[in-house]
Amino acid sequence: MLIGVPKEIKNNEYRVGLTPASAGELIRHGHQVMVESQAGAGIGMDDAAYRMVGAEILDDPRQIFERAELVIKVKEPQPAECRQLREGQLLFTYLHLAPDPQQTELLVSSGVTAIAYETVTNRRGGLPLLEPMSEVAGRMSIQAGAMCLEKSHGGAGLLLGGVTGVASANVVVIGGGVVGTNAIRMAMGLEARVTVLDRSLERLAELDMQFGGRLNTIYPTREALEAYVLDADLVIGAVLVPGAATPKLVTRDMLGRMRPGSVLVDVAIDQGGCFETSRPTTHADPTYIVDNVVHYCVANMPGAVARTSTFALNNATLPFALALADKGFPQALADNPGLLDGLNVHRGRITHEAVATSLGYDY
Ligand code: NAD
Repeated sequence: MLIGVPKEIKNNEYRVGLTPASAGELIRHGHQVMVESQAGAGIGMDDAAYRMVGAEILDDPRQIFERAELVIKVKEPQPAECRQLREGQLLFTYLHLAPDPQQTELLVSSGVTAIAYETVTNRRGGLPLLEPMSEVAGRMSIQAGAMCLEKSHGGAGLLLGGVTGVASANVVVIGGGVVGTNAIRMAMGLEARVTVLDRSLERLAELDMQFGGRLNTIYPTREALEAYVLDADLVIGAVLVPGAATPKLVTRDMLGRMRPGSVLVDVAIDQGGCFETSRPTTHADPTYIVDNVVHYCVANMPGAVARTSTFALNNATLPFALALADKGFPQALADNPGLLDGLNVHRGRITHEAVATSLGYDY
């Protein structure tokens, strides 16, 4: 199969659909890979690295869209890219169609067959192509929080792990899923005191088994949540209710009673955020202060560590990319119901029920 990897054109996006190593794997399976010149520059991979594994470098992305049978990207195609897609072509990337009627309409009218990373599932019902980015964001949340606790960022002037004779900071993680678990690991690694609140007792039991007595696991009644938030130096928002807007668990009233210089990192901001005072921010201007509490609410945290994120994403996408290239459409999807769950658009129709319903399309 002829596979194309254009350079990402979305603002501040440095990741790339295939690393040279992934391109090499596809080539070893007998496929051809075309990569746009400088597509890997943002992660420190130059054109020579792709040529070394046998990929063809093209200067003009239009040639890639015109010739490729399978286009592999990271972010949703931008309007100029959508207009170059065509019937009979496969697109494998993040799409996030539900809140994006313009992209949906362009993909539908292009006739392309689009498989969305975010709706591919695995046998456990998990989302294997979203998990690596949650892992990255969870780990980053503690780095970001530690920085915000510094005086120059409006924080209380606390070191997460304290020092000999001085207490460490109190980290409260709300939601103990993929983001939360990774935040817990990093916070513990820096020797902070860590509490997790999750409404799933099963999840709390797993975390208790994993971290033992070093982690305080708490069931989040409203009273408990309030008590732990008010006593926190750093709160990580990591809840997810699949398919729904994030519940506002930390209210404005609670915020006013937190210690000045405390920090909220709302990783769940991409689903609306779990603090009442959260609003999305960017890496260029990541924080703001309300009631003396520092808020960090960057909606695309993994973008800041594009190199790590690209490798993590490729580890997860490569087996699916290989299946798509080796077996083609529709066989690869017929053989793997999890990959079939990723099918969002096919020949002018929305083929994913939740996406169709949320956008008012026939299913
Ligand atoms: P997950 O499903 O693995 O975990 C969510 C956890 O929240 C679950 O354990 C669930 O039991 C718990 N939960 C749900 N409602 C709760 C409540 N009311 N109180 C306490 N716990 C509750 O999800 P995840 O992969 O960890 O993702 C968490 C959020 O982070 C999602 O909104 C995701 O989109 C977001 N995210 C953001 C970025 C970013 O760059 N900002 C990156 C990756 C993921």
